[in-house]
Amino acid sequence: PGTGRVASVTPMSEAPREEDLFLRIIAGEVPADVVHSDDVVVAFRDIAPKAATHVLVVPRTRYPDVTALAAASPQTLAHVVAVAQRIADAECGGQFRLVFNTGAAVGQTVFHVHAHVLGGEGLSFTDL
Ligand code: 5GP
Repeated sequence: PGTGRVASVTPMSEAPREEDLFLRIIAGEVPADVVHSDDVVVAFRDIAPKAATHVLVVPRTRYPDVTALAAASPQTLAHVVAVAQRIADAECGGQFRLVFNTGAAVGQTVFHVHAHVLGGEGLSFTDL
């Protein structure tokens, strides 16, 4: 019989900062081009942009991926979407693609949830 516990929704904010690149960026230990910061998220430009606008929106609290974030804090996920819209309004006419890579097999490399906000010139429409 199971323990009755729901699958892991525990924030992993206790993870050592040196193991989490995005916690180091949020703390200012690793430089980044920050475009938005508030109490809940920090947004900065991807170091290897795939389009004219390529910004990562990152909750300050560490969850490993979007499924954990959605289970634990749907309001934070909604805020990520609202910040993505604000960035797209400012940079690329309000239209954007929002990508959450979820799992190494589909390309997730940083296991601290982040939304890729993609828009503007250079975005391929053939991949999806
Ligand atoms: P993932 O592949 O996990 O969905 O996305 C991780 C993203 O982080 C990649 O697009 C990668 O280019 C970006 N990235 C990796 N290291 C750094 C860094 O040091 N600074 C910034 N700004 N982005 C990074």
